[in-house]
Amino acid sequence: MHLECIDCGKKHDLSTVANTCSCDGLLEIRYDFSKVQFSLEDLSAVPPHVWKYRELLPISGVPISLMEGGTPLYRCKRLEEECGVKELYVKHEGMNPTGSFKDRGMTVGVSRAAELGTKTVACASTGNTSASMAIYAAKAGMEAVVLLPQGHVALGKVAQALMHGAKVLSVRGNFDDALLLVQRLCSEKGFYLLNSVNPYRLEGQKTIAFETVDQLVAYGSEKSPDRVIVPVGNAGNVSAIYKGYKEFRELDIIEDVPMMTGIQASRSAPIVDAFRRGLAEIEPVIEPETVATAIRIGNPINAPKALQAIRQSNGVAESVTDQEILKAQKDLARLEGIGVEPASAASIAGLRKLARQGTIERDEIVVCIATGHLLKDPETVIRSLSPPTEVEADFDVLYEALSHLERS
Ligand SMILES: *Cc1c(COP(=O)(O)O)cnc(C)c1O
Ligand SMILES: [Zn+2]
Repeated sequence: MHLECIDCGKKHDLSTVANTCSCDGLLEIRYDFSKVQFSLEDLSAVPPHVWKYRELLPISGVPISLMEGGTPLYRCKRLEEECGVKELYVKHEGMNPTGSFKDRGMTVGVSRAAELGTKTVACASTGNTSASMAIYAAKAGMEAVVLLPQGHVALGKVAQALMHGAKVLSVRGNFDDALLLVQRLCSEKGFYLLNSVNPYRLEGQKTIAFETVDQLVAYGSEKSPDRVIVPVGNAGNVSAIYKGYKEFRELDIIEDVPMMTGIQASRSAPIVDAFRRGLAEIEPVIEPETVATAIRIGNPINAPKALQAIRQSNGVAESVTDQEILKAQKDLARLEGIGVEPASAASIAGLRKLARQGTIERDEIVVCIATGHLLKDPETVIRSLSPPTEVEADFDVLYEALSHLERS
């Protein structure tokens, strides 16, 4: 195992704590697959979860774990019919311990921090990263420092970070400002940085791909979907999932890597912009805006990895409006019984848009990643739907209020 720069190809020893190369390129963990012993068949009796795939993870000792992963993969026939695709699945990452996929990356990231003897971990966060880092820091007995963009973090996420004992600082600025600050903080104070620029985070998150393959086999479907649709913020997750599929291909577990499809909110869409214009690098969006606060990011740090993932897999990047996001959130909740936060619904909104355009074809098997749970952001729900109907504590009044509902 070693770290490798995705730009200049320079190899770095695993003992390096830096997250970037001397050329500023992003680093990635590489394995010698000729030495890896891993077979899905041998593990067929083991239910999916992050550490089921530990042969393909960079931690050798006992991990700091809270039983993350193993999230449901739902077949969604109603939306499948509406969109006109062959098979549609939603992977509900909201079913992780803190209610988002960030737990997959944090169990590996904090396990790495523990190996290094770290006392304090830190991150900038739109909310979910902080909630997740806080639980693993608690489990590991570390201090957690969190920088949040003031006024743009969903209530449930702040509550989690506070309850699990993180030192929470609300920065008067946006996520991009907070990320620059925390990087400097970590280099000056020696805190361990747990944003997704940290390659260990992405190692954990790549297990979304492994589990999906595992679960599609159980459904009797193809091993690998044709397309995976992912909401994109700081762009770590789409890169991580791509890496997971690539590694399964290298191990001959699957034949083809799915088309990685990244969805951004229309006013926070630098990757979509670079993709459309064929640019190698993004131009940051200075004042990103969207109701989907988890992807309200103008300068995604993993953009080079994400653009590679999307281009090399023959995928696309597309943007959706806040209105399309909120509609998809509601429809997913009411047609399929899956409750997600707004950012997660961007994947469904993107599916609809790309199916309508004909970019997604009728014979495709599609997996949408639902990144975070509905309960993360109750305030947006209350704002977008009508409040409960108030009635007197009187049976006749109550009966009348429900008169339009049939018995059977
Ligand atoms: C973090 C997050 C995202 C964005 O993931 P990136 O890896 O930053 O692209 C999307 N949705 C939710 C719910 C998240 O928490
Ligand atoms: Zn380099």
